[in-house]
Amino acid sequence: MNRKYYGKVIFELSRPGRVGYSLPKNGCEYKLDEIPSDLLRVKKPNLPEVDEPSVVRHYNNMSTNNFGVDTGFYPLGSCTMKYNPKINEEMASLPAFTSLHPFQSSDTVQGALEAYYKLQSMLSEIGGMAEFTLNPYAGAHGELTGLMVIRAYHESRGDMKRTKVIVPDSAHGTNPASAAVAGLKVVEVKSLPDGTVDVEALKPLLDDTVAAVMMTNPNTVGIFEHNIPTIATLVHDCGALLYYDGANLNPMLGVARPGDMGFDVMHINLHKTFSTPHGGGGPGAGPVGVRAGLEEFLPNPRVVKCKVNEEDGFALEYKTEKRAKSLGRVSSWLGNFAVELRALAYILSLGCDGLRMAGPLATLNANYVKESLRDLYALPIDRVCKHEFVFDGLADKSTGVTTLNVAKRLLDNGFHAPTIYFPLLFHESLMIEPTETESKETLDEFIGVMREIAREAKETPDVVKNAPLLTPIRKPDDTAAALNPVVTFFEL
Ligand SMILES: *Cc1c(COP(=O)(O)O)cnc(C)c1O
Repeated sequence: MNRKYYGKVIFELSRPGRVGYSLPKNGCEYKLDEIPSDLLRVKKPNLPEVDEPSVVRHYNNMSTNNFGVDTGFYPLGSCTMKYNPKINEEMASLPAFTSLHPFQSSDTVQGALEAYYKLQSMLSEIGGMAEFTLNPYAGAHGELTGLMVIRAYHESRGDMKRTKVIVPDSAHGTNPASAAVAGLKVVEVKSLPDGTVDVEALKPLLDDTVAAVMMTNPNTVGIFEHNIPTIATLVHDCGALLYYDGANLNPMLGVARPGDMGFDVMHINLHKTFSTPHGGGGPGAGPVGVRAGLEEFLPNPRVVKCKVNEEDGFALEYKTEKRAKSLGRVSSWLGNFAVELRALAYILSLGCDGLRMAGPLATLNANYVKESLRDLYALPIDRVCKHEFVFDGLADKSTGVTTLNVAKRLLDNGFHAPTIYFPLLFHESLMIEPTETESKETLDEFIGVMREIAREAKETPDVVKNAPLLTPIRKPDDTAAALNPVVTFFEL
């Protein structure tokens, strides 16, 4: 990597009069009087003046400053940063898909509709649900859609009192946020010291004002919620519905189905469990599934089987008289079609047996890392975990080295940091999710670096406290960056 470009912006390379193009002097320039005067610039634009090699090198060097799952280990707990197989990209970029127009009549896009239909059906099978919509764009969007379905269900029965959503204290921040956006009130339920939801604390909260209980299983500390059948009975007995936050579906793939556990509504994050890229917070997909009896509330359009020119085919179904209770649109077009194609490619290339291996391998990898580090890092929940687990910082607190310091020191060693200070159950949370796609060598390298950081914390704590030392930008002021972002170099 070319260090001299670290942290520079293109304007700093600018030299007056330097150009990166040569246009013919005669013949192709507009005469100024041909351009309406109100469109003419009054002063030269403030653009960087740079030669072509400088521009090419600048952007190429900048691009290599990025960290991604294609460049290194990314144990970001809760986010399931598994490898994104390149076959997915190839399938999604087939011209037969990329050259379609959303306004094409459905008899000309039968193949695309079939792919969409297949994914709807496969997710229903995987989740144990009656039907899935692929419309929502993200997990959080799926939660919102799912809660809107739940609201619509209660309202359709004239049950208007149900305005509360119960969320465990370990829940991802999107759960209470989605409930609030859906116009529902959030009530928190406590967890037990073993990390699972406290059923006794849940019982008194359940009454006829509760619309839904949201659960994540395995939960955000990576622990399997073994009381789900009891919780499902309690929730249903009070007339509420049970929502499954499927962001942690990965360890359950092909092994256990939320529908069989008693969940009524669920979402899946295709950019987690189904290996589609996270894209810098960008394109994801959060399909939502419902159990039998709730299908009519799902948003539209969806793809249905029908006769096309007298043969078996597929069509788009919109909110119609037949689907009058549908939420209608929650996204433009069909959702993130190119992401859905990637997820379908992933499912088809792994097949049933492959899918069934993902969870146990992810679980094995997480437990391997946990057991290899537990002598040096505090382990507040000492149980077999699923796909991820949480340390509460270094075991030896006397050094003053924090979770933030450990995370920053990992960057110096070429690893992405785990999730830090989440979940909020512990002061120094360090949440590690290796995923199933990492080799033992990579895990061992990570374990080695984590052990080395623990040693440094004892012997040279200032090195860890001042980390990162080797990244292009050292330690940005996160608060100032959020409160007062400077998004342009200077005014154009
Ligand atoms: C990632 C995650 C979400 C939110 O999903 P997005 O796709 O990021 O909106 C919700 N719940 C849990 C447990 C998660 O890990």
